[in-house]
Amino acid sequence: MVLALFIPWVHAADEGANFETIRIGDMLMDRTTEKGSSDYIIKPWVGGKIAVKFPSSLDPAKKRMFFEACALWTAVSRLYCTERVDEVNYVVLKLKPAGCFASLGAGWFPMPKMRKRIMNLAPGCWTRGIIAHEIGHLMGFIHEHQRSDRDGYIKVHRKNVIFATLPNFFRMPTARTLTPYDFLSIMHYPKWAFSKNRSDTITPQPGYEGYLNLMGQRISLSPGDALAARRLY
Ligand SMILES: [Zn+2]
Repeated sequence: MVLALFIPWVHAADEGANFETIRIGDMLMDRTTEKGSSDYIIKPWVGGKIAVKFPSSLDPAKKRMFFEACALWTAVSRLYCTERVDEVNYVVLKLKPAGCFASLGAGWFPMPKMRKRIMNLAPGCWTRGIIAHEIGHLMGFIHEHQRSDRDGYIKVHRKNVIFATLPNFFRMPTARTLTPYDFLSIMHYPKWAFSKNRSDTITPQPGYEGYLNLMGQRISLSPGDALAARRLY
């Protein structure tokens, strides 16, 4: 079968819309708060350009690793990363000691509070694969196992999940799917993610059992990731 990624739908809120930023797992998501609407606002980067403001204290070897991770996406799409000069929409890279997380999607010029995006890479986040995963969030990709059609492919075992981390397993009903479900996506979680008892938290549905130990790879992009990147950028 063909692999894949997907993308949450972008709700076109107008300039006057109210919104809030909430954190779901490692994703910082902007959500409209207008009456009758609770959709997330997810924008692609104009021209595929992600401008990054690096901390001045960042080790040059780590900066190189960041660009290597971004280059995985550049190899398969028009997405690219560059050091910020004076771009209005950009990402601030932070090095706080806890957490690998990133804003979902691009900054958005009409909404001043949305122009600056955030990515945090704690010491344990510095592998090419994990950075590529976080750049995937910046590009606008949510987790593969949270996409709207996921229940046909995986089962989430809530009783095994550390309670505080349950949001990492929420299904996102309004997520738009760009490509077929992809167990091998760099945006998928492994079977043991956030387990409180060493039992699996995610297992494939019958017919897909062969993916049990393949889910959650952080080596490189899957063919499905490449396809999704190409469709969006
Ligand atoms: Zn993530």
